[in-house]
Amino acid sequence: MRLPGPVALLYDMLPPPAAEAALSLYGLRNPLRERTWGRILRRCAASETWNEEEQSRYVSATLRTLLAHALTDVPRYRPYRSLLGELRGPDEHVVALLRELPVTTKAEVREDPTAFMAASVPDRCCIVSHTSGTTGTPLALRMTRNAVAVSDALWWRRAIWAGYRRGDSEARLVLSPAVPLRGPWSTVPYRRSWTDRRLHLSPFHLEEQTIDELRRQIVRFRPDFILGYSSSLYILTTLREAPIATDDWRPKAVLYSGDSLHPHQRERLESSFVAPIRGLYGCMERVISAADCAQGNLHLSLIDGYVEGQLTGEPPAEGPYVTGLLNAAMPLLRYDLGDALTFRRGFSCPCGRTLPVIEPVITREDDVLVTPSGRRVGSAVAEAFKGLPGLRMAQVVQRSARHLEVLVDTRERDYDPVAATVRKRLGRFTFGEMEVTVTRRAALAIRHGTKARLIINEHRPKLSGLPRRPGQDLEPGR
Ligand SMILES: [Zn+2]
Repeated sequence: MRLPGPVALLYDMLPPPAAEAALSLYGLRNPLRERTWGRILRRCAASETWNEEEQSRYVSATLRTLLAHALTDVPRYRPYRSLLGELRGPDEHVVALLRELPVTTKAEVREDPTAFMAASVPDRCCIVSHTSGTTGTPLALRMTRNAVAVSDALWWRRAIWAGYRRGDSEARLVLSPAVPLRGPWSTVPYRRSWTDRRLHLSPFHLEEQTIDELRRQIVRFRPDFILGYSSSLYILTTLREAPIATDDWRPKAVLYSGDSLHPHQRERLESSFVAPIRGLYGCMERVISAADCAQGNLHLSLIDGYVEGQLTGEPPAEGPYVTGLLNAAMPLLRYDLGDALTFRRGFSCPCGRTLPVIEPVITREDDVLVTPSGRRVGSAVAEAFKGLPGLRMAQVVQRSARHLEVLVDTRERDYDPVAATVRKRLGRFTFGEMEVTVTRRAALAIRHGTKARLIINEHRPKLSGLPRRPGQDLEPGR
């Protein structure tokens, strides 16, 4: 949910009962969306138990159409159109043909997104989104409405696998404008929506003063599911010793995304909610996704993307590279996600699904920011970097109790507007408690190790090491 400026301002001024009425009105669309997702999932239900041959046939047939389209219509891939003739060959040949194409990097897409956009797909069929991902590296993405709907449905499927039934309620600890960060009512850290039965909690309000109220609201709402970023859920459960679940209420499952969970963090969530914990892996480019089944194994969705090496059983020499299979508006072929994906070969999951199982993806470790009043903010700060033209990469470093230094990689001419917006947003996210300075730095100097880290807390470096997954803000129905 993204609100235009004046509407957002107006919403933020509403007293909670009025805001909840507005949310309930807006929430009317969610049961409809769930119905659409249900239809999509019924259509691809068979893929959950395809044998290897059926999987291979799907990938080849989809690739055949996609490559014909990309080599003809997409500027970046048009120089390879001499390969078009070879698309008529047998299936194995089509998959092997991918190797003739260059690897696509995130940097390339960021520098010139239009080179990847197909002119033949009209704007009315598309949604353009700006995302910061989790690395603080913004991307402009153009996706067909259909690709977004299928991808939303696949993300949604995790809840179905975890026992979701129509009408179930959920508490959501994800980025959402539902809980204002400014105005007279920003001290109330939750809002309820009655039509879609959601309790919206704010990942920016996790602190001593609000934690008891947040926990009380969760217990009163009795949600069937708790959904959130693992870093935020973890903070929610660690600010108090006692479990959140009570003798007469516990959720069906806790659904997390964004970050991987360390075993001790998983234990903490399990003991606090007395419920199974189910993860989702994915990315905002929507070229790949995977969800935990009831056995806790991470199954690749298969429908949305093809990972090189997925069919052959051979680990690819480099990469792995992923080709998105859904989005004709901006095809990404052999896309370098930057995550090490490991397949659990020869494993048959007791849940009965044949979808490939991958190992949990741990990409990097992040800290948590702590404001002077004790407010703790995790990967949700990535929101500060959304939709900023010219921003290539960013990192938030807590230098002292009251000082955040934000390192940004931009061209010189983009620096001033980027710095002004980042200062304003982070000031808001930390309720004016922190002095925020912005420094321009080359991307190479921002990276630590092989992966970019979004948050580094030098002030309390041992507070909490949180391993992260990409696609932290991927939850359908925002
Ligand atoms: Zn399974």
